[in-house]
Parts: sequence; C-alpha cells; structure tokens
Amino acid sequence: MSRGLDNQDRTLAGAPEVACWLGVDVGGTNIKWTILNGREVVASGSMPTARDGEHSVVDQVAALINEQAGDVRGVGITVPGHVDAATGRTGIVPNLPGQWRDFPLGAVLTRATGHHVAVLNDARAFALAELRLGAATDLADAVFVAIGTGVGGAVVLGGRLLGGVAGRVGEVGHVSVVPDGPLCGCGGRGCVDAVGGGAALVTAARAAVRAGAAPLIERRSGGDLARLTPVAIFAAVADGDRGAAAVVSHASAALAAGVANACALLGISNVVLGGGLAHGYPGLVDVVRRRLETVAPLIGPSLIRLAHFTDHSAAIGAALGAQDDQPTLLEYT
Ligand SMILES: [Zn+2]
Repeated sequence: MSRGLDNQDRTLAGAPEVACWLGVDVGGTNIKWTILNGREVVASGSMPTARDGEHSVVDQVAALINEQAGDVRGVGITVPGHVDAATGRTGIVPNLPGQWRDFPLGAVLTRATGHHVAVLNDARAFALAELRLGAATDLADAVFVAIGTGVGGAVVLGGRLLGGVAGRVGEVGHVSVVPDGPLCGCGGRGCVDAVGGGAALVTAARAAVRAGAAPLIERRSGGDLARLTPVAIFAAVADGDRGAAAVVSHASAALAAGVANACALLGISNVVLGGGLAHGYPGLVDVVRRRLETVAPLIGPSLIRLAHFTDHSAAIGAALGAQDDQPTLLEYT
C-alpha cells in the first residue's frame, strides 16, 4: 500500500500527527477496505470473501489488518447482518456462510491483531458514511437502503443514526413484501432481501434462463450460469431482453414496497439508495418514486437520492465508526 504519510517524519518536523483509521467491509462477495485520514480516503482495496466459514474470514481480515494497519489509530469492521456493537458479537448474518450467531468477532480480531476493532452493521456504516461525508449531510431524517448481495437498511432521525436494542433498527431488507415468497436467509419468507437483492436477482434470472425466457441473460453470462452476476442481468435488460426486464421489474417492485413501508411507518420522506447495485439497477429510482407517491398522503412529497459513495461506502463508515471510538453509537439512542 502507498500511505503517502509518515507520522514519524511529520512529528519530527513539528507537524501535527496524522491520524488514520482502517475500515473493513466484509460483504457476501468481496471484502473491501479503506484507510481514512480524517475525512479523506488515502487508500483502498478489495479481495474475494472466503466462502468456507467465519474462521476463514477472520484469517483474511486479520492478515489485512496486520498488513495495512501499522500506523492507524483504530479499526472498524462491518458485516452484513446483526451486530451488537457494545460486545462486538455478531448475530444473524444471512449472506455469509458460517456460524456467525453470537460469534465474538471484535474480540477474536483484537486478539489476532492487537488493535481495538469496532464492529458495525454494514448498512448502518453505509448510512454513517453518507450522513457524515456523502449524500445526506444536509438531511436530518432519512431511510437508507444498501443493495448488494443482500439488502440492508438504516434509519436516521433528528440527525442521529438509530441503533435500538442490540443494533436491530433499520432492517428494511427483512420486511416481508411477498406473502409466501422465497425463503430468506433470516428465516422469513418474501423479504425485500429475498426478492430484490443481488443474490435473489441471480436466482430469479437463472430460473428465467432455464425456462427459455431470457436468452440474452444466457449470452451475457458467457453460457456459464454459475458465474452469472446482477451486472450481467442489468446488461441484458439494456440489450432489450424481456425476460431480464421482468426479473428486474419484480425485484425492484419488492425494493420499492419495502422502502415505502419503512417510510410510512417512520414518517420519513427522504430516501438514500446505495450499496454496490443501486446505481446500475435499471429504473429503480423511478419505481421507488412511484411507490412513494402512494404513501404521499402519509409522508408528503419524497426526496430520493443515490448514495455519494459506491463500492466502499460501508468501509468508509467502518473507519468513521472506529474514529468515533465509541461503538456504542449504534446502541439504543
Ligand atoms: Zn429476511
């Protein structure tokens, strides 16, 4: 890595010591990391997430921390699921293989690296990045939705990121919007995550290809459905594939329903859509806007923004969480 910073030289020269913070975002597909110097990203990278359990992921992240964190003040890590920020233990983590329930992730990483490691939910970290540095710096109230392999969420009210009991507030992805719909990693059925997330898109697209309904998806996948990605599905939509368009339309309707339900419940009309897939999701903003119009009598006119940060938003939020040095930020507020 090129840090471009040398604390010792700067201290010797009489300049203020530079404080850097490492944020690591463990996603269902990739582990992304970033080093934040105050509000500035000075380095970042990514690698594929190990798919054989929590201990392999810990080994990956510990190696990354030991390699990158020589002169950082602290480390924050996110996972795509429930996190008790006070204890650093994980709960339900639907899109990561392994035994994550009640796993002491913070303590294990601290033991392996010697760094204090703040543990955050990935969508809440994404919201923190957008609230402090990105698309929501001027918003006091907003619902945040992070669309990647799964679908995460977060709620900001009165300028504060809500955590609730054990950090559980904001699971927009696990509102059920299709009764008796597909089984979700959380154990429920028809969740926004299970219909509108990236993994759900791929599952639905494979079924459409097998039914002969989406020939351009098959072409975009290079004939290998095992390697099909949401981006290839979006490309097939752009190619004019009706089967792909139907798959995306069904998924985006589920996302829009979840967003509208959350906004109606909370009385919030500002929405920030982010995560790795939001910017490329065909027609998503329009679908969400039309759905929010149906709850306008409850919440008034809505404001929808795409996130400022794309791939590394949760990693930036993790670094901000470490910078706060108060993982209890996500506790009950
Ligand atoms: Zn669910």
